[in-house]
Amino acid sequence: MVQSGGESIYLCGNSLGLMPLTTSACVMEELEDWKNLGVEGHFHARHPWMPYHEFLTENMAAVVGALPSEVVVMNSLTVNLHLMMVSFYRPTRERFKILFDYSPFPSDRYAIHSQLKFHGYDPDEGMIELRPLPGTEIISQEQISFVLEKQGHEIALVLIGGVNYYTGQAYDLKSITRDAHAQGCMVGFDLAHAAGNIRLDLHNAGPDFAAWCTYKYLNSGPGSLAGCFVHERHHNDPNLHRFAGWWGHDKSVRFKMGDKYIPIKTAEGWQLSNPPILSMAAVRASLDIFKEAGMGALRTKSEKLTAYLEYMVNSLGSDRISIITPSDPAQRGCQISLRMLRPDKKLFEYISGRGVIADWREPDVIRVAPVPLYNTFTDVYNFISVLEDGLRIS
Ligand SMILES: *Cc1c(COP(=O)(O)O)cnc(C)c1O
Repeated sequence: MVQSGGESIYLCGNSLGLMPLTTSACVMEELEDWKNLGVEGHFHARHPWMPYHEFLTENMAAVVGALPSEVVVMNSLTVNLHLMMVSFYRPTRERFKILFDYSPFPSDRYAIHSQLKFHGYDPDEGMIELRPLPGTEIISQEQISFVLEKQGHEIALVLIGGVNYYTGQAYDLKSITRDAHAQGCMVGFDLAHAAGNIRLDLHNAGPDFAAWCTYKYLNSGPGSLAGCFVHERHHNDPNLHRFAGWWGHDKSVRFKMGDKYIPIKTAEGWQLSNPPILSMAAVRASLDIFKEAGMGALRTKSEKLTAYLEYMVNSLGSDRISIITPSDPAQRGCQISLRMLRPDKKLFEYISGRGVIADWREPDVIRVAPVPLYNTFTDVYNFISVLEDGLRIS
């Protein structure tokens, strides 16, 4: 990664993944096919646009551990969360609450708040935020189970970030799903910080739905399309509410332009519009790389890379920073969140000035994410050298 003025140490793949070298060619292919073929590209492009999203499904399903029929690439993340809540958040007067994890990404909080309001419920009453025990940043599975046992009967939906964007904690999706389903709650996961980062086994974990963006660990470009998972148990349910559009309609008769909506009996049945092919081309380029590398190998390297980062931070022995991310590899992805114990941004400003690209999250956290696909142990070593200087000088 080159920054204006010199080399940088890029540790920000949790916010925007770097561009694969193959992306330009994939996007150019579509531009050229459009230039040469016009509307004919729908069927005659090298990768025909009509079924383009289907070229992504298998590789995306492998990334999240789902059946291909359970996955579709469409829209963007917050849009997918809303569409999923249309189907899976069906509140009643007795059961209307939504349980979510501490300090979710703001968009998720706004989405949850607005869904409660939309259905005529008081968000202050309906939003249950899991909070870490005093003195910790971590939410234990016992805590989640306890809340579900006590309040599960009033909870319509459990919507949790697979990996918390702030602390970097990875949750046990299978146990959450089991405990929530035992109480009759629907379960969805926001996998923005989990997809392409940790091993996922969505089909067997069994949530009702999940959604994730592709521009973070999945390297598909700023604002690129999102992934969506609907468990196969829901594919054939004619009673599910959903918002409909022509791209979710039975493909064999879509172009008969009939009046009656017949949803595709897979996750594709939740699509609304024909998708932006240029963006899909970038997703395709990236997923091909994930297929080649394999999530297993990536995760093996990732655990070592992050353990090295953790070890090196701890060995600085500084009383100005503490790691708030769990040290158990099963409870985190690649990201480490460093809490500043002095309430200023000086250290962050120093390392940024030295070419480290990480990010600052208010009020006092620097997030650092060594990504196994393109970061090296040398990147981590160089980061630590800069951090060490910063602790001495700033
Ligand atoms: C990045 C992120 C978002 C962003 O939402 P968009 O709809 O893609 O803009 C939402 N939720 C979480 C948890 C995120 O990490």
